[in-house]
Amino acid sequence: MLQQIYPQASHPYSYELNKDFQFAAAHYVPAEEAGKCRRLHGHTYYANVTVAGDELDDTGFLVNFAVIKRLIHDRFDHSVLNDDQESFSGTLPDRFPTTEVVARTIYEIVQRYLDGTANRPECVQVFLRETPTSYCLYRPKRKAGSDVNR
Ligand SMILES: [Zn+2]
Repeated sequence: MLQQIYPQASHPYSYELNKDFQFAAAHYVPAEEAGKCRRLHGHTYYANVTVAGDELDDTGFLVNFAVIKRLIHDRFDHSVLNDDQESFSGTLPDRFPTTEVVARTIYEIVQRYLDGTANRPECVQVFLRETPTSYCLYRPKRKAGSDVNR
């Protein structure tokens, strides 16, 4: 969000780009322990995606801001997250659309795209705010040897 200060991800790269966007989506958490979150309800999610790298592409971008928004916003905005069978599951807890899993899923979608680019930047953090008082951070574990392969 405008002027929001986010927690810093540590990384060894020279460039760091952050993209903010929001999307409205409904979900429910299909587990007994989830209490009232078992019922279908909606959130306006605020996301901040951090991408870092040392090389720019042919346009002089680390990554095009618009692509990040398109990948996530266009996919999840005004949707029922549970209906996205490719991303979420009604039976595997590691794939229930909780804040944690939605944050990790955003990372996975962004990183899959970045892996296909020539300059290969990395998504180093996803910040996902679900309510005014709750948010989740997802930071991938650094892949062993990822520095020597670049
Ligand atoms: Zn919820």
